[in-house]
Amino acid sequence: MQAHYGYKDGSGDYFIIIDTDKCNGCGKCVNACPYGVLELIEDEFDIEGGLMAAVTEEQRKKIKYSCGPCKPVSGERRLPCVLACEPKAITHSW
Ligand code: SF4
Ligand code: SF4
Repeated sequence: MQAHYGYKDGSGDYFIIIDTDKCNGCGKCVNACPYGVLELIEDEFDIEGGLMAAVTEEQRKKIKYSCGPCKPVSGERRLPCVLACEPKAITHSW
């Protein structure tokens, strides 16, 4: 499943998407994020009770601003959360 966390406003769509089938709950993205945007939560779709990454409740309405310092002005994206995720479970909509 693709879990979408974020919002849209007049300037665009701001979502962090976690592929819950790929996320193994390793927590590397949580540790890599300098602004506390991510956390591990219980994976409600995992019958074995595993963990998965999510955007914290507090951050869901402001990720455009929280993630702003990570976003390059131009060129290739090198986001700490994306780089830390070996199974490539994280994408950003902007
Ligand atoms: S680094 Fe990737 S696999 Fe690990 S918890 Fe984060 S999203 Fe899931
Ligand atoms: S882009 Fe930066 S601030 Fe946003 S979730 Fe990834 S590491 Fe955290």
